[in-house]
Amino acid sequence: MLVVKDLHVSVEGKEILKGLDLTINKGEVHAIMGPNGAGKSTLSSVIAGKDGYEVTAGTITYKGEDVLEMAVEERARAGLLLGFQYPVEIPGVKNVYLLKAALNAKREAEGLGEIPAPEFMKLIREKLAFMQMDASFLQRAVNEGFSGGEKKRNEILQMLVLEPKLVMLDEIDSGLDIDALKVVAKGVNSLRNEDRSVLMVTHYQRLLEHIVPDHIHVLIDGRIVKSGDKSLALELEAHGYDWLQEETA
Ligand code: ADP
Ligand code: MG
Ligand code: MG
Repeated sequence: MLVVKDLHVSVEGKEILKGLDLTINKGEVHAIMGPNGAGKSTLSSVIAGKDGYEVTAGTITYKGEDVLEMAVEERARAGLLLGFQYPVEIPGVKNVYLLKAALNAKREAEGLGEIPAPEFMKLIREKLAFMQMDASFLQRAVNEGFSGGEKKRNEILQMLVLEPKLVMLDEIDSGLDIDALKVVAKGVNSLRNEDRSVLMVTHYQRLLEHIVPDHIHVLIDGRIVKSGDKSLALELEAHGYDWLQEETA
């Protein structure tokens, strides 16, 4: 479904990804782990089409199509969605409008009309309840004054409403207490099905106890240096990344 081949990416003239290969099939959950500054966020940002990244070599294809040729909106419409696509506060824009606009853009691309207001409210209330979020949340400006945990729940709420084909989550676990982590994990797990894939970036093994990945990859210095199943996370938890760094060097 998503194939990344020999990807090289530079930021401000500095090479960050140095020949990264990754294949994600339908229905699979992949976790990318690795030390700070390895290029984990760069990878998901490049797939989602964020500005500021220069692809100097390699390819990314999704269902055979060249992702790098697609504008960021096209990628979102194709179902490649990175959580925190809107990490910034957007003063005056209510959360509910952003969600509705994003959903309608997706529906339009699918040849559907705008979602009728009652249907939208029914959908959103159901998802809010599932994420244990208060309805007052909808009326607040996007991310304005949100706590870390609220932002993360909001990120998953967006995913639940938009139902992307590839869910990308970057450090969805950072700064969450255990209860919030469980709610977020419940949201992500509810998205798992045979058609949808998940790519999540995390520092910590803890998240992977709640969202059990099919594959784990270790990203060090711009390349995936090791892949394995969930047991790899335990190995990393016990031994850190140093042994891999040494092996790679
Ligand atoms: P990770 O998510 O694995 O911690 P990142 O992908 O965020 O790593 O960053 C990889 C490297 O790229 C780091 O050295 C970081 O400083 C650099 N980098 C990332 N984004 C930028 C940017 N916008 N400007 C300059 N350097 C950046
Ligand atoms: Mg970083
Ligand atoms: Mg990062």
